Amino acid sequence: MNSFNDFGLAEPILRALTEEKYVTPTPIQAQTIPLLLAKRDVIGIAQTGTGKTAAFALPILNHLAANRVRPQPKTCRVLVLSPTRELSGQILDSFRAYGRHLRIQSTLAIGGVSMGAQVRSLMNGVDVLVATPGRLLDLIQSNALRLSSVEVFVLDEADRMLDMGFIRDIRKIITKLPAQRQTLLFSATMPADIAELARQMLKDPAKVSVTPQATTVERIAQRIVHVDRGSKPKMLSDIILQEKVDRVLVFTRTKHGADKVVRGLNKDGIAAEAIHGNKSQNQRERVLKDFRDGRIRTLVATDIAARGIDVEGISHVINFDLPNIPESYVHRIGRTARAGADGIAISLCSHDELPFLRDIEKLIRMAIPATGTATQPRPGARPPQQHQDRNGRGHGRPGQQQRNAKARDGGRSERGGQRNGNGQKHNHGRDDHHAQPDRQSRHQVPHSTASQGPRPIASTQPVGSDFAKVSFMQPR
Ligand code: AMP
Repeated sequence: MNSFNDFGLAEPILRALTEEKYVTPTPIQAQTIPLLLAKRDVIGIAQTGTGKTAAFALPILNHLAANRVRPQPKTCRVLVLSPTRELSGQILDSFRAYGRHLRIQSTLAIGGVSMGAQVRSLMNGVDVLVATPGRLLDLIQSNALRLSSVEVFVLDEADRMLDMGFIRDIRKIITKLPAQRQTLLFSATMPADIAELARQMLKDPAKVSVTPQATTVERIAQRIVHVDRGSKPKMLSDIILQEKVDRVLVFTRTKHGADKVVRGLNKDGIAAEAIHGNKSQNQRERVLKDFRDGRIRTLVATDIAARGIDVEGISHVINFDLPNIPESYVHRIGRTARAGADGIAISLCSHDELPFLRDIEKLIRMAIPATGTATQPRPGARPPQQHQDRNGRGHGRPGQQQRNAKARDGGRSERGGQRNGNGQKHNHGRDDHHAQPDRQSRHQVPHSTASQGPRPIASTQPVGSDFAKVSFMQPR
């Protein structure tokens, strides 16, 4: 499926997708949407960043558009369970964006905020409810919600749910759902306990999987530059001016970030352009052509936008932000060193990104050499830990993971519990913290879970003191 028009989605949904500037379905969308439109139960192995939200939201909206019935009071027709309130908010936003031309009632049931408003918005019933497990059970317990009319149930990020200790809550919720329903389960990995949960929850499910591709990335010299977040723009300009850059692709995590980086570079006299989802197709094509023809040497892109970039002769990839999904790092650096050329990948890593660095190093099974520390370690920071690659070599590396998690969390986890009707505190508030779901979860995943599934196998050959080369092979 090369176009959203091929799925037979309702016109108002297609119109919204055009407005969102979605042109080509991502692989998970191409595989999942037809199955869901055919009313199959589906297990999807896919991570955030693959477009999985639209993969389930679009066919669900299509179902609602085709079967217009008024929801019963205090019920929902579609229930999406997600582990964190941030992720829940993003999922609701997606439903609202893709469903903006349909009259769909949708709401959020998440912890950490008062229940009153949620009780009120459920009073007349809703089409789509996106919830975290603890708050959902609280609402059911307070007779604000019944799940007896759920037609479609989505369990998103199932492995994270289990990591966060939600299994009991999920089991309880499942018992309250009608037997006749469509069920979807999405998970980044499929450990045995998720497979067992899926066996109990789904009927004859179709399986779709978009496991990150193991790229062949050879001859790439990699380097980490530890730098304060605020010093990144200057560091980026310095690198571009000092290195022998033929063509450089700079990655940022967000579209807004990409525009900001371009403005900073322009200010420093470096011609640069951004390509991302907010740019029109024409703009993107023009910028890519300029980059390909060498009229601009610096292109700033987000991960999704970069999927379409196939340009030879990229001498450098610079990660202005470290990706929160480690596989994205492999994809990003694979943009350089094409066609047997040497390539250089430099990543600017601020203090708060150390957990991402740790995940990347775990994935590629090597420590990336660090240079050019722009700041002193923070007071009280632990000394670097020894960390061994698979050849048994030790590497000094930052060991700040837990502290970072707590700092980012702002101590919210300690006040997450909600009072129930009897004034007793119970710990459903687990879903009330995790201010930044991706960041948080990625480094919270226990090693055993994080390392499941096919992974590229890396072999390292240190080159000089600053660089390491890494080659990736398909796991056998
Ligand atoms: P998700 O994996 O659902 O979190 O999606 C990751 C990002 O990709 C979100 O910012 C979506 O808006 C965007 N996205 C999803 N599908 C597409 C598509 N087909 N084309 C362009 N962007 C997309």
